[in-house]
Amino acid sequence: MVDSLRTHSATRVPFSVEFNPPRDAAGEARLWRTVREFERMHPAFVSMTYGAGGSTKDRTARITGQLAQHTTVLPVAHLTAVGHSIAELRALIGSYADCGIRNVLVLRGDPPGDPLGEWTRHPDGVEYADELVRIVRDLGDFHVGVASFPQGHHRSPDLATDTARLAAKLRAGADYSITQMFFDVEHYLRLRDRLVAHDPIEGAKPIIPELMPITSMRTVQRAVELSGRELPPAVLERLRKAAGDGPEEDRAAVRAAGIEIATEMAQRLIDEGAPCLHFITLNFAKATSEVLTNLGYAVTAAPLSA
Ligand SMILES: Cc1cc2nc3c(=O)[nH]c(=O)nc-3n(C[C@H](O)[C@H](O)[C@H](O)COP(=O)(O)OP(=O)(O)OC[C@H]3O[C@@H](n4cnc5c(N)ncnc54)[C@H](O)[C@@H]3O)c2cc1C
Repeated sequence: MVDSLRTHSATRVPFSVEFNPPRDAAGEARLWRTVREFERMHPAFVSMTYGAGGSTKDRTARITGQLAQHTTVLPVAHLTAVGHSIAELRALIGSYADCGIRNVLVLRGDPPGDPLGEWTRHPDGVEYADELVRIVRDLGDFHVGVASFPQGHHRSPDLATDTARLAAKLRAGADYSITQMFFDVEHYLRLRDRLVAHDPIEGAKPIIPELMPITSMRTVQRAVELSGRELPPAVLERLRKAAGDGPEEDRAAVRAAGIEIATEMAQRLIDEGAPCLHFITLNFAKATSEVLTNLGYAVTAAPLSA
């Protein structure tokens, strides 16, 4: 994956996209349309999440395998430790390799049900993501990514400890990290500075910022709630203003403000030397494509899914 970042033109910062395993046949048909739309835009990679509590194990593996075998995109499969024994995790990693997946984003995962609830280790599983990084590394020549948290992980006691744990995860064999989504670029820049100051070697590894172009108040509020963080007041204010005072939210205005915010953040990240821009897509191409167009990327003129 990191190599694929290097092959892109120095004048254009690569971008990548995140998909979720679809819930049903209609969702799957839409996902494949979206994949084809993005394929024409040449993302550096596409990642496929792993449902909370390991709930989408089979779908994540099947669809990521199909991406590897039947498309020209480079797939990254998310893999979470939650609810799995080490034997199950090894079998799953083997099945990833069997269908041509070479890139894995290694995560601990959140407890099923309430993501912010009590974490319980599987009796034969792992406690932290760094252990799973070592297991994946031992099983093959995988490129491994891990999660990083611009405002610190919600279970970390402080930012210094959070930084030390991220460095340990990278040292365990990860090649790069992808951040939790954020809405204040300063948080990303401070994470990067903290990591370099803590460990210059691990700090040199790419930290890929994750962006969510906001298309509705409800979607962003839910996503932010699940992350255990809050929207910065300035962003919230801008969205509320766009939503208006009427009984119905002005959805078009909220969406326009969301695209504008994502564009401004992406431009700042490019100016600050981010190695890649990773977009949460919710399996739609249009919002990400609008942000890329605003940034001057050449994107397809074909009609895009909402
Ligand atoms: C880019 C990205 C993609 C994600 N994709 C998914 C997904 O597909 N599916 C999903 O279910 N979840 C996903 N998540 C959420 C993620 O699983 C949760 O945020 C989870 O709570 C933390 O995972 P982690 O891999 O960072 O855990 P860890 O690195 O294990 O950290 C978890 C907590 O333990 C602490 N810790 C780490 N090591 C130690 C140690 N040795 N001693 C004491 N404490 C320690 C850390 O400080 C942290 O507070 C994603 C998150 C990100 C940022």
